[in-house]
Amino acid sequence: MKQQAIVRVAINVPISRLFDYLAGDHEIKPGCRVRVPFGSQNLVGVVLEVSDKSDLPTKKLKLVSKVLDSIPLYSATDLRLLRFVSNYYHHPIGEVATIALPALLRQGKPLVPMFKQLMATKLGEKCDLNTLKKRAPIQSKILAELKQTKAMPLSNLDKKISGWRSPVKRLVEKSLVEISVLPKKSTEYLFDLPIQEGPPLTRDQNAALAKLRTKKGFQVSLIHGVTGSGKTEIYLNLIKNALKSVQQILVLVPEIGLTPQILKHFQERLGVKPAVYHSGLTDTERLCAWRSARSGKAQVLIGTRSAIFIPFNCLGLIIVDEEHDSSYKQQDSLRYSARDLAILRGKQKNIPVVLGSATPSVESLMHCREKTYSLIELPKRVGKAVLPKMKLIDLTHHGRPDGLSGPVVESIKKALDTNGQVLVFLNRRGFAPTLVCSGCGHVSECAQCDSRMTVHAQTNMLKCHHCGAQRPYEKQCTVCGATCNPLGHGTERLEESLRRSFPSQRVTRIDSDSTRLKGTLDKALMNATSGETKILVGTQMLSKGHHFPNLILVIVVNADQGLFSTDFRGAERLAQSIIQVAGRAGRELRQGKVLIQTAFPAHPFWQQLLTGNYYAVMENEFEEREKSAWPPFSRIALLRATAIRRNDAHNFLEYARILADNAGVAGVRVLGPVNAPMERKAGRYRAQLLLQSSKRQNLHEMLLKLRHKLEGSAKARRVRWSIDVDPIELF
Ligand code: ADP
Ligand code: ZN
Repeated sequence: MKQQAIVRVAINVPISRLFDYLAGDHEIKPGCRVRVPFGSQNLVGVVLEVSDKSDLPTKKLKLVSKVLDSIPLYSATDLRLLRFVSNYYHHPIGEVATIALPALLRQGKPLVPMFKQLMATKLGEKCDLNTLKKRAPIQSKILAELKQTKAMPLSNLDKKISGWRSPVKRLVEKSLVEISVLPKKSTEYLFDLPIQEGPPLTRDQNAALAKLRTKKGFQVSLIHGVTGSGKTEIYLNLIKNALKSVQQILVLVPEIGLTPQILKHFQERLGVKPAVYHSGLTDTERLCAWRSARSGKAQVLIGTRSAIFIPFNCLGLIIVDEEHDSSYKQQDSLRYSARDLAILRGKQKNIPVVLGSATPSVESLMHCREKTYSLIELPKRVGKAVLPKMKLIDLTHHGRPDGLSGPVVESIKKALDTNGQVLVFLNRRGFAPTLVCSGCGHVSECAQCDSRMTVHAQTNMLKCHHCGAQRPYEKQCTVCGATCNPLGHGTERLEESLRRSFPSQRVTRIDSDSTRLKGTLDKALMNATSGETKILVGTQMLSKGHHFPNLILVIVVNADQGLFSTDFRGAERLAQSIIQVAGRAGRELRQGKVLIQTAFPAHPFWQQLLTGNYYAVMENEFEEREKSAWPPFSRIALLRATAIRRNDAHNFLEYARILADNAGVAGVRVLGPVNAPMERKAGRYRAQLLLQSSKRQNLHEMLLKLRHKLEGSAKARRVRWSIDVDPIELF
């Protein structure tokens, strides 16, 4: 008797192993999806291996219930990536394989989406509509539509005729119409569109391109180009070059960097419509983009972090724009870094990877120091534009009743008088971060978190920015009944005070509250770019990547929080956010100015940033981190646990600590467990254990041992726990 094939399937369950099934009569290749019985369910999984043996006796194995793909979704290289991700991030392989897929494929839907088409039969075409109309007006209406359009997607009726479902059913029963299920046509990714020529390149740009073009095969380059140095132009030239040899290009951008303007710009300059991949698409749109990249139809794909998992047909180049951006790191479930995986992908496929930023991460600069990445610098802005001048405004000397100090208001006035545009930056949305009682001093807090409620005046609500809880704005204190007052400033309040100070000017606020509705962000950005709005106020949404030609003044309202961050990345983050927002000023002919309000003007950080620029801050960072053995001078991972009861989280981590101490792995420091600084969030207590080692291998050996012991442990039942490798937020 012929031996039955055994397939090893990655199933979406939090268990770190594959599950064996009998293939039965099916011919199944690795990389295909299958449906398999699992407990009482029938789950979708991805076949990772086909084998002729199993550790279990054959008679204990169940049969695959259905094969969902006739051709593999993933190639052998793609499957290797999934395995690597699972091993490196210590995350169950089944969850990794699932997270990597678009939602529809995860649910077991076909690779090519289907739709139902409605058509009149011969009988239907001959049917007399007037007679039908008397007895069945809706049926007659549907038939009339079909006589006009011949065939249409069933879903089109939603917009045209209400209550169509049972009339259609009747029409089918009478054989007047028929419904067929057809594959949806995929999006056309047009190419050979008219191309707009770019500007002649500057000397620096040419030199950078010459360096980049000599690179064949795997090689990582970091373009450190100051804001406005024309990095996008370099990307466009590289992409054009790669397109000539019929290769696909993946461009990764931060979450808020994927604006319609960027897409338009790429299309005009490349003559190719790029495919897009981000979380704002519908499930079908995402699947379409994924398929086109997989088939090779999409030549250029611009996407946010999850695009790194797309199995491209013939990927030739990966570009990671704003490589320092924290949105490349997923902060829950599978905590991967798309930037780091881009480098792994490049290595696997033997293709170049280009990272770009005006404020590169310490990690990437370290690679340049060690010569594993090549550093390409663009130290000057393009054309006549120069970098803006930065100045501190000492808040110990100047009050700021409305959030803005006297000198700041004066400067805004001056800028507006000369028809310049102003950007007021504050990374805190809402009206005020605190609501406090004027009688007893009671502060409104979130019932679920150790945090204060933020006042949102426009919606008249108090919101918790950590768990999303909200309740109506309490005008009277719930304790003593006295009046409550908002304390401090958010973007909403700044918008209000700017309107008051400059009543004749248009003020536009851009943050995640003001741009919730589809299309609002695009419109606001257009008004900002055209110069129609003279005063912009907003969060980091405004600070990244944009080019507002008329902008000459940037105000940083409050930077002091960042000065005293407990996270070892505090200074790096603060320098990045200030340089990025400052980089919006003076990008064309007029000199830009940046005013930074601080109550600590003597802090050494300011000296480094203002006199020595980004490199000076980085130099200091290298020193500090080497001294205290933080990354990139060591490797770290966090074991996090949350529980409804405080003790459960701690007991679990104490247990993990004992396991770690006895694991017999040398050279790994274990710190904690400690409470997370915000100990309670969304009703759960949070604590963590930090693991640190100078050797990556030791750290991973330790994590592997811990993970296996913890997965099977009874102690794990009362907690939710996770491993975060290379965490970017320690708390
Ligand atoms: P970065 O991404 O480095 O901040 P951009 O790529 O946005 O800079 O370029 C800044 C501005 O300079 C853009 O308006 C761009 O069109 C323009 N630009 C880029 N390269 C050139 C060039 N060689 N000549 C003229 N203008 C250029
Ligand atoms: Zn909360």
